Amino acid sequence: MSIERTFSIIKPDATRRNLTGAINAMLEGAGLRIIAQKRIHMSLEKAQGFYAVHKERPFFGELTEFMSSEPVVVQVLEGEDAVVKNREVMGATNPEEATEGTIRKEHALNIGENSVHGSDSLENAGIEIAYFFNDDEIVG
Ligand code: GDP
Repeated sequence: MSIERTFSIIKPDATRRNLTGAINAMLEGAGLRIIAQKRIHMSLEKAQGFYAVHKERPFFGELTEFMSSEPVVVQVLEGEDAVVKNREVMGATNPEEATEGTIRKEHALNIGENSVHGSDSLENAGIEIAYFFNDDEIVG
């Protein structure tokens, strides 16, 4: 066990439905600390860069247009095993397959509009945090 930082996004389907506080309560309830947070409206180019790993996938256009369609909340989460812990509280990508009590089970609309993003590894967490935050925006 070690203290880690991971990157999270509350996606447009959730900000639109006024679920930022409800999702933050679930993150905090899972033992994660929100050590940085800002609401932004990302450009299509910013979304395309963030999801570049998926650029050959059939849903790339839909995904990047969705993520740039309305505001999102980008976050840095800190805690014991934060990467895995956040993936657990998020639930499966497809909400129909997500476990009861997870964010996606409770709030996601479908596999695309699935309310939250979370880094899938510690290495990617570092890359994703740096993509959205300057060091002086993360105060611990
Ligand atoms: P995650 O790590 O659980 O978010 O899942 P992935 O890294 O596999 O996919 C990234 C994001 O792409 C997901 O969170 C979804 O928003 C979106 N996505 C994945 N699969 C599909 C799909 O089949 N259709 C659509 N429209 N979006 C998808």
